[in-house]
Amino acid sequence: MIIPDWERFVGDMGEIFEDVRGFNEGELATYIPQLSRVPPDSWAMSVCTIDGQRKSWGDSLNPFCLQSVSKPFTYALVHDDIGPEALHAHVGQEPSGRLFNDISLDHNSFLEVSKSYERLLDLPSFEVPRTNPRPKKPHNPLINAGAIVVASLLKNKTPLADRFDFMIHACRKFVGSGYIGFNNSVFLSERETADRNYALSYYMREHNVFPKDLNLQDTLDLYFQICSIETNCDSLAVMAATLANGGVNPMNGERVVNNRACRDTLSLMYSCGMYDWSGQFAFHVGLPAKSGVSGDMIIVIPNVMGIALYSPRLDKLGNTVRGVKFAEQLVQKYNFHNYDSL
Ligand code: GLU
Repeated sequence: MIIPDWERFVGDMGEIFEDVRGFNEGELATYIPQLSRVPPDSWAMSVCTIDGQRKSWGDSLNPFCLQSVSKPFTYALVHDDIGPEALHAHVGQEPSGRLFNDISLDHNSFLEVSKSYERLLDLPSFEVPRTNPRPKKPHNPLINAGAIVVASLLKNKTPLADRFDFMIHACRKFVGSGYIGFNNSVFLSERETADRNYALSYYMREHNVFPKDLNLQDTLDLYFQICSIETNCDSLAVMAATLANGGVNPMNGERVVNNRACRDTLSLMYSCGMYDWSGQFAFHVGLPAKSGVSGDMIIVIPNVMGIALYSPRLDKLGNTVRGVKFAEQLVQKYNFHNYDSL
């Protein structure tokens, strides 16, 4: 047994869960109208160990959209499919230190920030290229720019319908027998309100970030569809546990992605998974995690378990308030921090 005293562990987790319920601050995401209409006080948590012990608390069967929690899984699948070199020819590994949907590419690419353009367009930082041939890349695959590029690489020689099928079937492999669905209203709502993602994508296309023969609309549709894939906490914990288990689903023993893809995914989650709180989170909690604007979040304890959390009230950086509080309390109680063993 990976957790020898399961009953005690489950008792402790339940206590933290109830304690964290008291944090009622934060706002729902409103920029996608459909996300602003969910019950604001939902609170759910599930754990799944790498040897298949499972437990859920609260509204753990209530569905929600993956949103940005899809990003590590899409990255892992493309990594597994085309390998790290081909993938990272288009996207970097650096925390961006900027908002998740910021219009910027990696500084190493020698872009020159034009202050006049910033003022003119009232964008946080709009960069104008010099005549430098170095390849330009989004900072990492877990912010929008990077995730859109990763989506452009996902089975991109096949029709859009097959690409979506590939993704949703892969999600089903990550969850085993759990729930994976698709929320079409969120997809439509997301596509309707996606000016920033369109702007980002045109900007990246101008800078030749994408692979050749790109169909930009297909790529964006696929990206929005992946964000709109639905699951629940109970199932999401198995997805997280599959990452904790090196890419093998602990419930059925099926390998979903290779070890290296899994390792690289966890490295990026560790450094870039929690929006602009990623550095703080890595420092204080010391675990790979990813959150999304629907209020979902996964925490991976490598070789031990996956944890899924859902509470739609978000802090100013876009992280679920209760999810972050839970993580902080978890590592106070248990020595799961990456460097606790030193
Ligand atoms: N669908 C969202 C967007 O691209 C993802 C945001 C998120 O969860 O960070 O705007």
